[in-house]
Amino acid sequence: MFACNLKVIIERTSVPAQDVTPVIQVTDLCKTYQMGDTTVHALRGVDLDIEAGELIAIMGPSGSGKSTMMNILGCLDTPTTGTYSLDSQEVSSLGDDDLARVRNQKIGFVFQSFNLLARMPAIEQVELPLLYAGVKDRKTKAMAALDAVGLADRAHHKPSELS
Ligand code: ADP
Ligand code: MG
Repeated sequence: MFACNLKVIIERTSVPAQDVTPVIQVTDLCKTYQMGDTTVHALRGVDLDIEAGELIAIMGPSGSGKSTMMNILGCLDTPTTGTYSLDSQEVSSLGDDDLARVRNQKIGFVFQSFNLLARMPAIEQVELPLLYAGVKDRKTKAMAALDAVGLADRAHHKPSELS
């Protein structure tokens, strides 16, 4: 376990090896928000390497920068300064379209509030990112994914009809 320069604690399952390129490489990451005349420093100089297979928990009190950090790591937002390399690609200065492409190819998110589309049945929710990625045979793949988590018999139900 080690602490970032801020108030966030990052707990890791293993000590990173020296000879492997980390999947996530974050260097001197800063994020500020402008609130009128006030500059809010949400992240101040975070350094973090994460290797393939590591399980990481980011913990800290409310307002310590966890969501800001996750938004950047998840390519939903970009840092104000500093670098973020994901799978050897520098992503900290990408625009919205390129970030969307990286998310589609490399990021999986489970949001607290799910962010499912209310009117769309489960099978179509799973198919949607495959559609954007240009994947063929989407229905079969989506059904296999639902089946893998025991939701095959709920494939045509909308989010409000799922537990
Ligand atoms: P946590 O998720 O750990 O509660 P956040 O990352 O949401 O922390 O917030 C970190 C700091 O940045 C807080 O001081 C918060 O008020 C501020 N902040 C977060 N998002 C914004 C925003 N969009 N505009 C201005 N300040 C923000
Ligand atoms: Mg938060």
